[in-house]
Amino acid sequence: MRLSRYFLPTLKETPAEAEIVSHRLMLRAGMIRQGAAGIYSWLPLGYAVLQNIEQIVREEQDRAGANELLMPTIQSSELWRQSGRYEDYGKEMLRIKDRHGREMLYGPTNEELITEIFRAGAKSYRDVPSMLYHIQWKFRDEVRPRFGVMRGREFLMKDAYSFDLDQESAHRAYRKQFVTYLRTFARMGLKAVPMEAETGPIGGNLSHEFVILADTGETEIFTHKDLLDYDVLGQNIDLDDDDQIKPIVDYWTTQYARTDDMHDQAEFERQVPEDKRVQRRGIEVGHIFYFGTKYSEPLEANVSTKDGQSVPVHMGSYGVGVSRLVGGLIEAFHDDAGIVWPESVAPFKVGLINLRANDESCRTACDELHAKLEQAGITVLYDDTDESPGAKFAQMDLIGLPWQLIVGPKGLKAGTVELKHRASGERHELSPDAALQKLA
Ligand code: ATP
Ligand code: MG
Ligand code: MG
Ligand code: MG
Repeated sequence: MRLSRYFLPTLKETPAEAEIVSHRLMLRAGMIRQGAAGIYSWLPLGYAVLQNIEQIVREEQDRAGANELLMPTIQSSELWRQSGRYEDYGKEMLRIKDRHGREMLYGPTNEELITEIFRAGAKSYRDVPSMLYHIQWKFRDEVRPRFGVMRGREFLMKDAYSFDLDQESAHRAYRKQFVTYLRTFARMGLKAVPMEAETGPIGGNLSHEFVILADTGETEIFTHKDLLDYDVLGQNIDLDDDDQIKPIVDYWTTQYARTDDMHDQAEFERQVPEDKRVQRRGIEVGHIFYFGTKYSEPLEANVSTKDGQSVPVHMGSYGVGVSRLVGGLIEAFHDDAGIVWPESVAPFKVGLINLRANDESCRTACDELHAKLEQAGITVLYDDTDESPGAKFAQMDLIGLPWQLIVGPKGLKAGTVELKHRASGERHELSPDAALQKLA
């Protein structure tokens, strides 16, 4: 992609309205544009990151055997009345009337709708266990939308739902999602710690919040240091084998890990030796629930058992804040010059900088590198503009692509280009071919 043809409205000055670094950097890097309080358009650079995060979440859900579907954003109020949540949900729910005066709402979550879909399609024990998910926009009329996409009103969530015959099988589904979440966040380079959590308006009695560490997080967390050093991707886990999954979940859930809502200082001090106590701030990026028959009973989502009885299915739900993660990742990965994307979510892997766009040899060399990178399937943003080198470096650092490939007339004469690693700042002078090889 040539920068001259790419819509990248970066800002030099720091926007005054943004309180935290991720919000400031998203605005400065031209990733988002606010439409109304807590409602954003995703500009090309921001949208590319959002889609990469979405794709990691999708691959890990698929790996867990969940089926992707897509439910609408607008729902009818009827099912919500049946579950009893229409009044309970309160002002966070955006209520809308259609032209016939029917009460509609913009979904803040989808337990009711998915339960109805499952009810209509499943009949017997043969139809369970089942796991369904979608990645769809939600709306919650937050009292105080703030921190950009971290607490938006319209936001993108992955929500998965599990259906099982009994509690034991539903707990297995819960454990599968638990480990899937550990993997999902680890693939983004994040340390997400599952914490015992309150269930809030979703309901139920078993629940974990996944929290990433960040000083600007809204939640205070208390946990054991060893949990932060656990490497989940280093293991080859068969998600269908509960004997492999259960020990992992047990490891995480037997150590102290709680947010401020659930924290008990005496218990913390009893369970965790002083030198292992971690008290930090964090951002909730995911939340999983087991709530049994809370929705299946009122909505009559029953299946028949082998001996012909009709029983309500046991359910869980599993949310990931896909759009919140864009901000969360920047909170975790930035420096004074800008964003430092982990490769797995970066909008482009390489920024190719032509230091002198009007120099024939520079242009030829860059055009060739650009073509070769694209042919090799490596995503590249090619700065082919005639801005000054200083402005080009600053913009590339700001948008945080993992690698910068810098081409100037002096180097070319000596047969070299420069490869800079954004995260470490390391620079190497190499031949264009060696640089391509290093990036492949
Ligand atoms: P919070 O405590 O931050 O208000 P929540 O507990 O109300 O979040 P859940 O109902 O657990 O949220 O939703 C699942 C996930 O959706 C959350 O873990 C979070 O990552 C994301 N999420 C919730 N509310 C918002 C929001 N207003 N903006 C962006 N993401 C959100
Ligand atoms: Mg909330
Ligand atoms: Mg919460
Ligand atoms: Mg939550």
